[in-house]
Amino acid sequence: MNRMSKWKLSFLFVVLSTVAWGQTYKIERVEPRNWWVDMKHSAVQVMIYGKNIADLDMVAEGLPVVGVTKTENKNYVFVTLETKNKPAGVYPIRFSRKGKVLASCSFEVKQRQPNSADREGFSTKDVVYLLMPDRFANGELTNDSHASTTEKANRQLPGGRHGGDIRGIINQLDYLSDLGATAIWSTPLFEDNDSTYSYHTYGQSDLYRVDPRYGTEADFNELIAKMHERGMKFILDVVPNHWGSNHWMLKDLPTYNWVHQFPGYGQTNYRMSTQTDPYTSQLDKELCEDGWFVRSMPDLNQRNPLVLTYLIQNTIWWIENANIDGLRVDTYSYNSKEEIADWTKALRTEYPNMNIVGEVWMHDQALQSYWQENSPVGAIQSYNSHLPSVMDFTLHDAFGLALSENEQGWDKGMIRFYENFANDFLYANPNNILVFSENHDTQRFNQIYPDLSSYKMMLTLLTTCRGIPQVYYGSEIGMAGDKSKGDADIRKDFPGGWQGDAQNAFTKQGRTGEQEAYHAFTKKLLNWRKSAEVIHHGKTIQFIPEKNVYVYFRVLDKKAVMVIINNSSNQEELKLARFNEVIQPFTSAKDITTDRSFDLKKDSWSIAPKSAHILELNVN
Ligand code: CA
Repeated sequence: MNRMSKWKLSFLFVVLSTVAWGQTYKIERVEPRNWWVDMKHSAVQVMIYGKNIADLDMVAEGLPVVGVTKTENKNYVFVTLETKNKPAGVYPIRFSRKGKVLASCSFEVKQRQPNSADREGFSTKDVVYLLMPDRFANGELTNDSHASTTEKANRQLPGGRHGGDIRGIINQLDYLSDLGATAIWSTPLFEDNDSTYSYHTYGQSDLYRVDPRYGTEADFNELIAKMHERGMKFILDVVPNHWGSNHWMLKDLPTYNWVHQFPGYGQTNYRMSTQTDPYTSQLDKELCEDGWFVRSMPDLNQRNPLVLTYLIQNTIWWIENANIDGLRVDTYSYNSKEEIADWTKALRTEYPNMNIVGEVWMHDQALQSYWQENSPVGAIQSYNSHLPSVMDFTLHDAFGLALSENEQGWDKGMIRFYENFANDFLYANPNNILVFSENHDTQRFNQIYPDLSSYKMMLTLLTTCRGIPQVYYGSEIGMAGDKSKGDADIRKDFPGGWQGDAQNAFTKQGRTGEQEAYHAFTKKLLNWRKSAEVIHHGKTIQFIPEKNVYVYFRVLDKKAVMVIINNSSNQEELKLARFNEVIQPFTSAKDITTDRSFDLKKDSWSIAPKSAHILELNVN
């Protein structure tokens, strides 16, 4: 047995405790847990945590030490190890005093998966299904509560833990794949040990641990492997802006400025326009960036390089460890502005093709554009976020209003969509925008519009406009929910996800007639979209809506799709001559959801009130 193997056996996952001079030294944490060979981010900042560990002398064997940072808290040592051109292996780190080793740990550099740097991420070819793991399906009853986490399962509490988990998602992968979803965005999966209201998991308490109520790390890896077998992608929800107040490091701060202190709690003003406002007061600007999102979520100080590096490495670690396909970044624009750009750039450097969408919740396109990579709006203020994708909240806003406006006004009804897309000149890349009508933070679409025809108009537009469509769990069976009653109402359990549920809407037999009507339309549209290259890559040509009828085309090579949405409460005659510049070469048109043919030789078509059509145009 060689020396390295002995070390491996003795110290693989930490801990040699030694008592000397009345002091016990015990290394409790090493983060990141390991690293990989051939990383661009090769100099890895290893955080070693143990009581008074900074009092000792440190020697790392086999990996060059390129930096050691100690803080005012002696329980932490940050050592930067260079892994470049080093072979995979387990490298010992020893802590000693006067030559006597008093504590040890090891740091493993693993072999990297082939093509790991080339991961593609999600794109316009995908439909993203957003779910909340606690509320989707409970596949493992024994983990509903866990000894190591405070909040126990109680399905009677709307804001409680309901027991949904990773196994539940795995069990429903066939359902999701059959529906036509090609990617899953799950809200965060890492431990959130708040004593109440922890089910949303945005107040994370350990960034290197899958919340045990969702399952194990092996379950997480299995989920992603099984998604990849089906050609599906997993989008990890990451939260660099804040941690939960029960994060173990926040209870023993490495350094005072690890979080923003006022001292202690200070509330953000949520006013994101302070970040671009040329007249902003420093007070408003700083409070927006540095204030806490809520009292239970201390705001991380990414201007501290130790914090920023910790966050970059944690995200890389999960991408490598679990084979993540893409990222969704929570509260992107609340982070320290320059440093979140550095965070994003580091990830883009490591994974040049991987997509990352940031939550940038704005109400006009200029402000949304500002946060996208290479934005012409950002360039006005010499800012580049390096964030490839943003969320189309203005389109979301339009969905909330337009479909109930039966009469088209100058700025009402379908004009809202037309104007939303007319402003796309502001974007560096309008195709790489996440489009949605609802998410886990908004009013449910089916609550605003409790009718199937509105849902069909919405989903038609969502799946045929530019960008990457995101749907929200349960809407495909008509689920509603009222945000004015609290977030729990828009995050109800999926019917059939729990043993003993009155119905199982995951199966056709278990769905009501109305649920099946929603589901069948969704399935048809999403599955058609999978291979519709004209939607993935085609250019958009739109016509000014008339009488609340919106017509636009997607065109690619010799293919075209014509989308007609009549939001009027009247039957409307659509005169075809107006669209000659696009339809002239084509001889046939067929509605992809009903298989009904439309005659292009006619002067006009009669379009039913509150209806939507997706016509594939062909040359016969
Ligand atoms: Ca469970």
